[in-house]
Amino acid sequence: MPQAMVDTTPMPAVPAYALRVVDALEAAGHEAWVVGGWVRDALLGNPSHDVDVTCDALWQDSARVLRAAGIEVHETGTRHGTVTAVVDHKPVEVTTYRVEGSYSDMRHPDQVLFVTSVEDDLARRDFTVNAMAYHPTRGLLDPFGGQRDLALGVIRAVGEPERRFSEDALRILRAVRFACRMGFTIEPATAAALFQMAPNLAHVSRERIGSEVDGIVRSGRLAWAMSACQEVLVAAITEMAPMVGFEQRSPYHCHDVWRHTAEVVAGVEAFSGCTASPQLRWASILHDIGKPHTFTVGENGQGHFYGHPAAGAKIAHCVFRRLALPGDLERQVTALVRYHDRPVKATRHSVLRMLSDLDSACPGQARGLAFELLVLKRADAMGKAPSFRGYACEVDKVEAMLRETLSGHAPFRTNDLAISGRDVIGAAGLKPGPWVGEVLEQCLREVVHGRLDNDREAQLRWLAGYLG
Ligand code: ATP
Ligand code: MG
Repeated sequence: MPQAMVDTTPMPAVPAYALRVVDALEAAGHEAWVVGGWVRDALLGNPSHDVDVTCDALWQDSARVLRAAGIEVHETGTRHGTVTAVVDHKPVEVTTYRVEGSYSDMRHPDQVLFVTSVEDDLARRDFTVNAMAYHPTRGLLDPFGGQRDLALGVIRAVGEPERRFSEDALRILRAVRFACRMGFTIEPATAAALFQMAPNLAHVSRERIGSEVDGIVRSGRLAWAMSACQEVLVAAITEMAPMVGFEQRSPYHCHDVWRHTAEVVAGVEAFSGCTASPQLRWASILHDIGKPHTFTVGENGQGHFYGHPAAGAKIAHCVFRRLALPGDLERQVTALVRYHDRPVKATRHSVLRMLSDLDSACPGQARGLAFELLVLKRADAMGKAPSFRGYACEVDKVEAMLRETLSGHAPFRTNDLAISGRDVIGAAGLKPGPWVGEVLEQCLREVVHGRLDNDREAQLRWLAGYLG
């Protein structure tokens, strides 16, 4: 183990509520340090992170000492030596210095051993930037060069990378997530081990993979991850593997499906000022996931992908289910994937149809989704071969029409129609039932396609004809 050095780097103040926990433990003769994410983020000038404390006391002793100091304590993870102190309604996790035994399942240590040295505790942590401890009077403890790596902007494993990733495969995704979130790269030996060990992600629970991948997608640096950590992403979402190197054999495209997708992912960030929503970010990486499954070659040798948006929406649905990601996010992403290739023109009817389709897929969310769909379409156009990028300008006109349409009370939901369910029931003289909604849907289709005005008299006449 490297010799631990305590230095006196200026740090932001540890928040008072966390300091109370550290002081209570130390007043009882224990040694306690702030550790992990708070230290890392404080050194980056961003102290707004939960505070974790590591301590030489066994959890039973920490709990007793803290309670004696009047601090509320919850026994949240005692198997791993963790209790949670609550001060001013803020939680502080207090964990006993520990090391981990062997990992026979590549995910959970077979046993956790409590130790007496903070350096040993830091050595079991994943990355150098996460393996620093800080104490307001003793200073910063940085035995693995975490500060140097913060300055270099690299994620580097603590210790031998292959061994660390083979112990716990989740660290493979954590490395990519931290690199994305912090705008860092991955140190070459750590990166080589990531790629080599990526297949071990098969041993990690799908929920854990889901939450890490979601963090990567939401980071805004997904395009970087697609080019620098392709092996890791396809090991996490195996449905994406066929996209890599899949030649499109089409004059519309100059890239294979994976590279085109990376261009679209980058385009979505560029066109939304790096503030794209999670659903748009997810849709950008999954929009063409159906392509390899729908590929056909025409007589002239040209590749086609008929039906790839619907196929992609189905695959996206399966990915979201497997990774246990939220249903609301899934519905929005699958809607964007399903409609990403549907032509939309700068006409009121075309825009209304887009809104109506999106509203059926995600009731109440059509307005926001429509703007996001246009960002996706613009980025998709710009990811094509240079002579087929012109549609991006058409998208600008569609967006102007979308704004204009939304500023007047444009009908794109059955609620927007001039007639209501009561009119339908009255005209038919029948008992209410699901059929009423179906008639209204049909009426909406007529309006959206421009065959019927959103006018009460006209719609009552249409209703009489439709029912009669
Ligand atoms: P975040 O902001 O994502 O919560 P964090 O650094 O607080 O970042 P946590 O997952 O909360 O990350 O973990 C707290 C600390 O525990 C990490 O900083 C790291 O030192 C250690 N740690 C967490 N998970 C692992 C792991 N799988 N292997 C090794 N060390 C880990
Ligand atoms: Mg944390």
